[in-house]
Amino acid sequence: MNSKIALQLTLALIKPDVTKVPPVLQILSLGTYLLKAIHKRILDEKFMVIRQKMMHLTTAQTENFYAEHKGKFFYNRLVTFMSSGPTQALILCHEDAISRWRQIMGPTKVYRTQYEAPDTLRGMYGLTDTRNCTHGSDAPETAAREIGFFFPEFDIGAWQRTDYKHFLNGNVELNEKEFLHRIVT
Ligand code: ADP
Ligand code: MG
Repeated sequence: MNSKIALQLTLALIKPDVTKVPPVLQILSLGTYLLKAIHKRILDEKFMVIRQKMMHLTTAQTENFYAEHKGKFFYNRLVTFMSSGPTQALILCHEDAISRWRQIMGPTKVYRTQYEAPDTLRGMYGLTDTRNCTHGSDAPETAAREIGFFFPEFDIGAWQRTDYKHFLNGNVELNEKEFLHRIVT
């Protein structure tokens, strides 16, 4: 067993600017294209996908998820945007998953990021400072809370006791259709 690395979990979101595409653009499969490009980046960066699901957040759920930003000038805009279409929530696993995923996303503000970090997800695919295509937890406590928010049935402690070692040993394979890594038995 490789004792040098330790795997960490983070919560990633692919926001409605990617998943919700106006009907006229669906003809061009733009939404599918962007979603696939982000999925490819996740795999290229060697993240493992522990859980994923699409869901359409209600206004109340969005307000709860982003409660820390209540009162800020962009809060209403953010809540309207995040409840405007489907979001894909993913539990991602990697060494230093939290900081790695934030690095791959790039800084919050798309207009600056397009110049300062053009090869990040937000730099490549973000539309505006609010519609910035992805979310990532910013600390271990936040990741635990956010994983619980989107996947209340997922037991992090149980996963660490039973599944962790298989992911650490690379004893998993990607189910492409489900976009999930499954333990190989
Ligand atoms: P991050 O998503 O990088 O952790 P924050 O937690 O600060 O950033 O903000 C949450 C979300 O609120 C951002 O991802 C973005 O969608 C929106 N947001 C943050 N700052 C601004 C801003 N200055 N103008 C518009 N929208 C913003
Ligand atoms: Mg944040």
